[in-house]
Amino acid sequence: MSVAARLVVVRQRIAAAATEGGRDPEAVRLVAVSKTKPPELVREAYEAGQRDFGENYAQELVAKAQALTDLPDLRWHMIGHLQRNKAKQVVRVAHAVHTVDSVRLAEELARRTAPDTRLLVLVEINVGGEAQKGGCTPDEAREVVDAVERHESLALRGLMTVPPHTEDPAGARPYFDALARLRDALGGPTRLPELSMGMTHDLEHAIRAGATMVRVGTAIFGERG
Ligand SMILES: *Cc1c(COP(=O)(O)O)cnc(C)c1O
Repeated sequence: MSVAARLVVVRQRIAAAATEGGRDPEAVRLVAVSKTKPPELVREAYEAGQRDFGENYAQELVAKAQALTDLPDLRWHMIGHLQRNKAKQVVRVAHAVHTVDSVRLAEELARRTAPDTRLLVLVEINVGGEAQKGGCTPDEAREVVDAVERHESLALRGLMTVPPHTEDPAGARPYFDALARLRDALGGPTRLPELSMGMTHDLEHAIRAGATMVRVGTAIFGERG
């Protein structure tokens, strides 16, 4: 199947889940995760109307952004763990960073963002408490959210999570619900409009729990090697 055909299927899955839950399908943005895939496939998706793309590694993000500067309204989302020493490179090309998980990272991004620009920021939460994963704990979230809000150059947009892997996609639902509850505890959708959650195998469950951004790789670009 072509990337264009796969995109149609994914958009149908999003629309079906949203409609089923009484939500507007337009309220769920698809971020196409292109990590490990060549720029040509990003271009193919772009030509099929896709505009938001996610990358996990700073260097790969920068390289692909440079290879695709001729696509004007393409938006890059940094969705992988970000080291502070890569912040400078990333803010030059990223529209949004979904993985801010410390006050120090928020401060570094703010310091590196060019004058008169605003970087969209989501705070990553490790809802499953997994040692090997990025994200701050739910207890630390308030401090990080407050820190993002203090900076003129950062626009606080919401929360992001990658739940523990479960064979049954429904197993992710409690973690998605936990992120939605945390958002409510921190000020609700007025302060934190975006919930970035849901991937290829569990996007329906994320949308039912209130996701406004789903990050989908495999279903669009195929298995990663
Ligand atoms: C790779 C990745 C995705 C996409 O995963 P798929 O299962 O391929 O859809 C989404 N979010 C993050 C943070 C990822 O690392």
